[in-house]
Amino acid sequence: MKPSPTELYRLQNKHRSSMAVLHALSPWLWMALSMALIQRLPWLLPPLCLFMGTRLRHVSNLLHWASHGALCRNRRTNRHLGEWLAWSLFTTLDEYRRDHLSHHAHLGHLAQDRDFIKLAAFDITAVRSRASRLADLLNWRLLWAYRLPWGFGSRRQAQATVLHGLLLLTLLAFNWAWAALAWVLTWGVTRVWVSYLTDLLDHAGIYGAPTRPERSRNCIVASAWLRALLFPAQDCYHQVHHEYPALGPQAQALAHQAWLETDPAYRARPHSLGQWWHLLDKA
Ligand SMILES: [Zn+2]
Repeated sequence: MKPSPTELYRLQNKHRSSMAVLHALSPWLWMALSMALIQRLPWLLPPLCLFMGTRLRHVSNLLHWASHGALCRNRRTNRHLGEWLAWSLFTTLDEYRRDHLSHHAHLGHLAQDRDFIKLAAFDITAVRSRASRLADLLNWRLLWAYRLPWGFGSRRQAQATVLHGLLLLTLLAFNWAWAALAWVLTWGVTRVWVSYLTDLLDHAGIYGAPTRPERSRNCIVASAWLRALLFPAQDCYHQVHHEYPALGPQAQALAHQAWLETDPAYRARPHSLGQWWHLLDKA
C-alpha cells in the first residue's frame, strides 16, 4: 500500500526564500559563464550549448515547483519568483499552471493534456528504441513543437521578446558573435532536445498505461554530480510527483523511500535511469 499523503506531507522541508532566490538565479549565472567561455574558446560551443540547454530546463523545473506552490516556504516569494521564472520563459505563472494542472488531471489523455498535446506526432504512448527516439532530435517538427511563444501576445511576452532581441544586438555590437550564436542555438535547439528527452524519461512508452501510477516513472540518478547536471531540481522522482503533487522537491527522495518500504508493487518497478536505458535497448 502506498503511504498516505498526510504521512508524506509531514516530510515537507521547503526552501527558505533566500535559498529559493539563489536557486532561481543559478541557471542564469551558469549560462553567463558558459557564454563568456564560448566567446574565448569557440570549440566549447557544442558541449556548452548542451549544458546551457540543461540550465534552461532547470529554469523550467523551478517554474514547475513554483506552479505547485512548492518552491519555497513563503507563499508570496513563491508567487513572485514563479512569475519572474515564467516571464523569463515567455509565459505567465497562471498560464503555465493552467497547462500543467491539465497534465496532472488528464495524464494519459493526450487531447486534454495541454503539456503533452504537442507530442502527438511523436508516439509518446509507444515503446520505441533509443535509436528512433534519438532520430526525433533531428526532426524539425520537434523544434516546432517546443517553440517559444516569441511575440507580442501579452505585455510580459513582449517584454521578454524585446529583452532577448536587445541582448542579441548588444552581444553582436561588442563582437561577441560566438556567444550570440550560442544563445540562439541554446534556446532554439538544445533546450528543445533536453526538454524532449526529459519528457520521454518521465512518460514515454507508459503514457497510455491503464492506471495513473503506471503512467509515469522515476529515473533516479545515484551520482550527485550527474544528478546536479540532469535533474538539478530533484525532478527524477516523477512518479512520486504525480502521486503527491503538492510535495516539494526537498521531500521527493524521502517520499520515494517511504513508498518503497510500504508498497511491494512500487518496489518491484524500475526506478533508476540506468534500468530505463537498458529497457529501451530491448524495444
Ligand atoms: Zn507537476
